[in-house]
Amino acid sequence: MKIVLIGSPLLRKKAKPIRKVTSELVLLAESMAEFMKPTGVGLAAPQVGLGEAFFIYDVGEGLNLVVNPQILERKGFGTDEEGCLSVPGVYAPIDRSTEITLSYLDHTGKRRIHKYVDFEARVIQHEFDHLQGMLFVDRITDPSTISVQEDSPVAAALTRTIEERGKRL
Ligand SMILES: [Zn+2]
Repeated sequence: MKIVLIGSPLLRKKAKPIRKVTSELVLLAESMAEFMKPTGVGLAAPQVGLGEAFFIYDVGEGLNLVVNPQILERKGFGTDEEGCLSVPGVYAPIDRSTEITLSYLDHTGKRRIHKYVDFEARVIQHEFDHLQGMLFVDRITDPSTISVQEDSPVAAALTRTIEERGKRL
């Protein structure tokens, strides 16, 4: 497994819904979890080069597999620093809803509707964005708030992304 970095078109495609949650998908989710464990709390399919609509996350309470998610409702507003395995060495404060209602299929294929708050809601919104082809850096409103580590391998790609976005605004 290899992490797809910012600059790759794979991160910009909208993910396709999954027809059925299979045991193969659950196994794949488990190996993605092992892969992200040392540094990440979440990993979306496009970040490992897959085009299907699912992500995993673990905020310290065990692994969650989220398939074909839809955000039904958003409430509240909060700002906190985020980073991303696909944008290594880059951190920035990002505005997110503090409460979301999510509809999705779980690891058994069962449809669930659940409310999430605070950090967990933030992680889900970040991973959900990946499935829409969006990265957290796209949500940066003030480029001066970005912190980029000197050895970041994606500094040039990040600059390009922000410049291109500036042109569209
Ligand atoms: Zn990410």
